[in-house]
Amino acid sequence: MSYYLGIDLGGTRIKIGLSDDYQLIEIQNVKASREKGFQYNMKIIVEAAVGMCSENEISQYDINSIGFAFPGLVNSKAKKVIATNAKYNDAVGFDWDKWAKENFGAAIYLENDARMACIGEWRHGAGVPYTDLIVITLGTGIGTAVVMDNKLLKGKHFQAGNLGGHFSVNYDGRLCTCGNRGCVEAEASTVVLKQLVSNHPDFSTSKLVNLEEISFNNLFELADHDKVALDVRNQCLDIWSAAVISYIHAFDSEAVILVGGIMNSKDVILPYIEEKVNELAWTPWGKVAILSADLNDSAGVIGALHMAQKI
Ligand SMILES: [Zn+2]
Repeated sequence: MSYYLGIDLGGTRIKIGLSDDYQLIEIQNVKASREKGFQYNMKIIVEAAVGMCSENEISQYDINSIGFAFPGLVNSKAKKVIATNAKYNDAVGFDWDKWAKENFGAAIYLENDARMACIGEWRHGAGVPYTDLIVITLGTGIGTAVVMDNKLLKGKHFQAGNLGGHFSVNYDGRLCTCGNRGCVEAEASTVVLKQLVSNHPDFSTSKLVNLEEISFNNLFELADHDKVALDVRNQCLDIWSAAVISYIHAFDSEAVILVGGIMNSKDVILPYIEEKVNELAWTPWGKVAILSADLNDSAGVIGALHMAQKI
């Protein structure tokens, strides 16, 4: 029997999955400590994965191969992190083969985290019926990955399809961490949500003032009774819709799959974006399917396990 590890490293949590040739055995969540740097979190991952192996009466050296989802630009051929955006900057130059061999005696496949989520949904989730799709991860920031003609899009520099969060929706907009202006991520994401809300002229009268933390989940909850929450929610939905339409025009997608905790509000998000896409996207061939993920926040780890089994 062969065993596989799938690892999805996020800014606040790490997901680790263990499978054999036939089935998923277990997925565990571990807290990430982004502020302590990349090397520290890699040690946490080894400890947690070794613990999972022993709980399942497997030696860590029984692991055949590992799929690893990393939050940054990745050259999957050379197994290198190309660039990060203020997250785990010390991962550039890391020797992934050495790490996998030393700790597990295993081979490793490294990929960008949105691409791994895309592989998860495409092969095992809502994307199964499609050959051309885009997966959008709405987390702290916004990640995207694309399948075109039944192939994962990578491009010459391994960034094709990955920078959907940095499509500009406002040329004169907010400065983004990437250096561009008016990126989707800089205009409508968790990173800027607090600013969006507090800039609203009626903010002082809003119920949001009393909240310790403003998240999209509580923004969506309050929107039915609170003008500021409703305005900011609709502004974000309009920005995401504009971005989705640009992705469809760029990648000729037949399906758009949205991933993330925010999809708790899919009953509002999906019909809103669908209506805008039906009205404004140029798709003479027919209608684009606007879907929420089947695997949701496990899409990345399932994608990583899928790729581990392909090595
Ligand atoms: Zn940007």
